[in-house]
Amino acid sequence: MSVVTPADRDYRKIPYRHPQPAGMVSDLVLPGVLQAARDPMGGDPRLWVPLTDTVSFRPIQFNVSQGFYVHVMRVTQGGVLSRHRHTGAVHALVLKGRWHYLEHDWVAEEGSYAFEPPGETHTLVVPDDCDEMLTFFLVHGALVYVDPDGVATGYDDVFTRRATAAAHYERVGLGAGFAQTLTR
Ligand code: FE
Repeated sequence: MSVVTPADRDYRKIPYRHPQPAGMVSDLVLPGVLQAARDPMGGDPRLWVPLTDTVSFRPIQFNVSQGFYVHVMRVTQGGVLSRHRHTGAVHALVLKGRWHYLEHDWVAEEGSYAFEPPGETHTLVVPDDCDEMLTFFLVHGALVYVDPDGVATGYDDVFTRRATAAAHYERVGLGAGFAQTLTR
């Protein structure tokens, strides 16, 4: 058996050869997450969880151990989505279309990245002339829905999002357990 040493050219190609740490959660790789609900190129439309007739999300990960979730949100009609306060940081990457907040003068357009700081309250709007908005979101903590004075009226977090997805997946025949495959 030949022994490769750090001095050999192929040393860098040797995979790590020991067990991963005990208790480590498994990795998660999903193909085709950008395939939209009615993408003619394919994709299972059942993966998209409807919130309203024009708003749906494609879950990517429900992280119950760290309290965050990852999804692609799809909106197919302009309008106000919600007014909410964030308890945790949000990272957004706009994949298609555009949106803005009533509280800011910037517009997040295709290719834009936005960081929403913990504590911020804002009102998400998709403009009327945008007929498809797709945005990748990594959301820590909760969205607390509020009235214009900041009084809480409801909330969403990884647990409510996961419950909504599980109920949808059960309804469409994928099984409630499908949401578990996206859980870490
Ligand atoms: Fe937000």
